[in-house]
Amino acid sequence: MVIERANAKINLTLNVLNKRSDGYHEVDMVLQTIDLADTVSLEETPGEDITVDATVGNIPLDHRNLAVVAAEVFRHHSGLKRGVHIHIQKQIPVAAGLAGGSADAAAVLRGLNRLWGTGYRVEQLAQWGVEIGSDVPFCVVGGCAVAQGRGERLTPVYHSLRPWVVLVHPAVYVSTSEIYGSWQTMKEPVIAEACNEEVVRALEAGEYARVQNALRNDLAVVACSLYPEVELLRSRLERTLQVSVHMSGSGPTLFTLAPTHTVARRMYNTLRGFLKEVYLSRFTSL
Ligand code: ATP
Repeated sequence: MVIERANAKINLTLNVLNKRSDGYHEVDMVLQTIDLADTVSLEETPGEDITVDATVGNIPLDHRNLAVVAAEVFRHHSGLKRGVHIHIQKQIPVAAGLAGGSADAAAVLRGLNRLWGTGYRVEQLAQWGVEIGSDVPFCVVGGCAVAQGRGERLTPVYHSLRPWVVLVHPAVYVSTSEIYGSWQTMKEPVIAEACNEEVVRALEAGEYARVQNALRNDLAVVACSLYPEVELLRSRLERTLQVSVHMSGSGPTLFTLAPTHTVARRMYNTLRGFLKEVYLSRFTSL
């Protein structure tokens, strides 16, 4: 049996560029791995079946599960037709903008490489990851990176900042395709200036306050206008904590950074007083 951590990501920036001819939007964003993680266990089974179970009921437990898709992709490329059972202990909220499914898929690619002793390089696994989803290559590699294209063209960002992250998952279902669709019509008034360069420079210089000032997400305005409860919560969090609050991916998860564990813990405790899904996490690499 092999056990892999499947870490979530947050968006430090998200610039939406254009809609491509294949229907996907071109993005330009800075992604950061955090230590909120699912645990993915892989166990070889007799026969050729790929099976999955999970500790939560709100994800598909069949061929639609991204962990199963990843096992299929790995078997296809490696030519190995062995059976495997995947167990997912979920900690990352589902459909939250934190790449939970992609993280599980990436963990399966890394885990099967270990379980079956195939010795593929991480870059090779990341390349296969594109076939599963645009966040999977980043989740295979982890750390911090600028992601372009559909999200799969990665340039690593090397830095040693390890701020804390306080996350709130609002109990709101947001549709990623609706958000990108509405961005298309709203983009003129909402488009944010390209901000990756500033975040990357601030990270590399180790300047925490500058990083915090450079956080941006083009989709936040869209999500907040389509789902007013997200905007209500965001402004309530800003008032309560007296800090700026941001959205990850296409939402609805909101987060803020904190420079020390003491500050982060105080924020976490305050929010736990009136919100159910609050998480205390930290920048990490894999
Ligand atoms: P991203 O940030 O990459 O857009 P997300 O965090 O918004 O992703 P996920 O948690 O990955 O969203 O879930 C997106 C969809 O994928 C959900 O509808 C969910 O049912 C489906 N899904 C398939 N496999 C998984 C999995 N292993 N874990 C979570 N969701 C999964």
